Formats: sequence, structure tokens, C-alpha cells
Amino acid sequence: MNKEINLKERTNCPSCHEERLNTNKVLHAKEEWSLIQCEQCSFVYMPIVPAYERMKKEFSWERNFNSSKKVSILKKNRRFIKSLIKRNKLLYLLNKYCLKGNVLDIGCGSGIKFNDIPERYIPYGIDISEGSAREADVSFQKRGGEALCAPATEVVSKFGNNKFSAAILRSYLEHEHQPFEVLKALKDTLVLDGIIIIKVPNYGSLNRKFRGDNWCGFRYPDHVNQFTPKTLSEMVKSTGYRIIKFNFLDKQPTSDNMWMVAKTNI
Ligand SMILES: [Zn+2]
Repeated sequence: MNKEINLKERTNCPSCHEERLNTNKVLHAKEEWSLIQCEQCSFVYMPIVPAYERMKKEFSWERNFNSSKKVSILKKNRRFIKSLIKRNKLLYLLNKYCLKGNVLDIGCGSGIKFNDIPERYIPYGIDISEGSAREADVSFQKRGGEALCAPATEVVSKFGNNKFSAAILRSYLEHEHQPFEVLKALKDTLVLDGIIIIKVPNYGSLNRKFRGDNWCGFRYPDHVNQFTPKTLSEMVKSTGYRIIKFNFLDKQPTSDNMWMVAKTNI
């Protein structure tokens, strides 16, 4: 891997913005990538990340997710069943907390997540990968929406204020260089009573503690942030949302992931 090109340094904690110190403890490392912990707020993050431009081509999320290594039929079946359960959870939450309207999928990939979302939702998306955003745009336009290729920090300038009834941040915040700034900007592009649905790996899970560096939530250099229930709650609250669903079942220590629903009206 060429170390010379397009790396970005995060000199402050992405959550509390406290200046990064040389004494910050390195918790995990692989090749040139490392994860450190903020001494102020305990947020775990990668101080050196690939620049967006580099991610666009070299580390596009869908490419790293769908690695070409051989997968057994059994594993494929298990993954398929898991993906059905995940989709159902998203649909359940969307149905329960958002009746209809424009729904923004941040990190929308090729848009397939919206294939089984009911017609009363108009799909919109934003993705950093050019190829994926183009693909999603074609399918979203058929339903009256659109998908754009841009960093999510530009969500307001791209879509305007008071546009979305809901935003989906599924398997997204762990990739984002500026999760705090995106959550803040997102609030302006949501309607007054809008919701966000978040799903991220749970760094506080038992599996992470038992499996150590082999835990499935570590992906270098894709996952630049690692959230625990505490640090996720803190970031969501400090960016101006009210958490409306984050119970024990949403953050079970036995699950690798956690789900949260939050609202804009606080
Ligand atoms: Zn911090």
C-alpha cells in the first residue's frame, strides 16, 4: 500500500473535539492504522484516516464489504438470513417512527437497501463512491427521489433545509471522518419532527472483548470510529437530538451491533 498518498490526520477528537495528545492510548493497530482513545470522552477513533478522495476509489465501502474471497454456502445462507432480519428491523423502525415522506439514506451504496421499502417513502441517498451513487440515483429517480455523490458533511448544501422526514445511518457513522459535523448538519435537513435511525458496530460488545483484534467490527482502514452505547448516546445528544429508542435489546452486549432512533425536536 502506498503510504505517501492522501492521508488525513484528525488532530482533535471527532466527538468532544479535545486536542489529540501523544499520550492517547493506542488500543488496537494493524499495519499503518491505529485506534486510540480520547482521554476526555473515551471515544475510540483512528487518528490517521484515508482521505475522502482515496476512499472514493480505493476503499469504496461496498467493495470492501463484498470482498471476493470464497464464502461457503452455509455462510452465505447465514448471511442471507441475517440480512433479512436486519432489513426487517429497519423497516419496523421506519414504520413505527415515520409515517411517510422523503427518506435519506446516508452511505446509500447502490441503493438496494430501498428495494423493499414501501412506496410511501421517497428514497434519497448520498454516497462517497461515484459508482454506487450513480447506480442508486437510477433506481431512486424511478420513485421520485435521487442519489448524489458527495461527502455527507455537504448534506444540507446538496439537499436544502427541512427536506427529510427520516434519515437512515446504517453501517455509516463508523466510516465517517466527521461524525459530529454530519449529525449536526443533518439536523437542519430534517423536518422539525424528523427522525434518524442509526446502526453501528458496538465496540462495547462482549464479542469484541473476547475476540480481541479478531472482532468483526474492526475493518482497517474503513471503520474510523468505534462507538460504545455511552459514546454514541453522547454524540447524538450533543449534536441536538433526543434519543427515543435505545433500550436493552437495541444494545445487547451479546450483539456485535447496536440500533438507535433519535428525534430532532428536543
Ligand atoms: Zn473526546
